[in-house]
Amino acid sequence: MKFNRPCSIDFDLTTGLSSNAVSKKRYLSDLKNMYQDEEARLKIESRLTYEYYDLGLPEEAGELSFGTSILYPGKVGNEYHMTKGHFHQHIDTPEVYYGLSGEGYMLMENMEGDVCWEKITPGNAVYVAKGYAHRMINTGNDPLVVFYTYEANAGHDYQTILDKGFRKICLDDNGPVFIDNPKWKE
Ligand code: MN
Repeated sequence: MKFNRPCSIDFDLTTGLSSNAVSKKRYLSDLKNMYQDEEARLKIESRLTYEYYDLGLPEEAGELSFGTSILYPGKVGNEYHMTKGHFHQHIDTPEVYYGLSGEGYMLMENMEGDVCWEKITPGNAVYVAKGYAHRMINTGNDPLVVFYTYEANAGHDYQTILDKGFRKICLDDNGPVFIDNPKWKE
């Protein structure tokens, strides 16, 4: 798609998948050292964890990137499946996520150490305010499917999270609990 004229694209409400575009896929092999139990992750590295659509919109101010993300259910040890998470390179760029199916959380934190998490459920929109890193966590039994949009020049900073981790992690202790991340580096 070229996006120089109005257009439309389909995303299935339950699977999140599009018949018009090719998704990008992330496997557990793409999330080295991001879970608490690295040994458990290594044993199941080939597992498809999530996919998302990057439609290739021009990365210019005023353009809107959009698409779906699909985070599959499952755990690594007792830690729920999650996305890598990132800050935006232009850190003042916010983002909106709208839940289509499944259930989970958006975990967010800013550079000053403010941490919060908001439930993602069908019909619930999460506003990721500017300055906040964000990571999806699937705490349910079905794919967690969301629609997202952000200004297309945002850029993605994955490295800060790779280096430091999030301050909180989400474990299954008879249901989801958020605890301090023992691996977090200041
Ligand atoms: Mn983002």
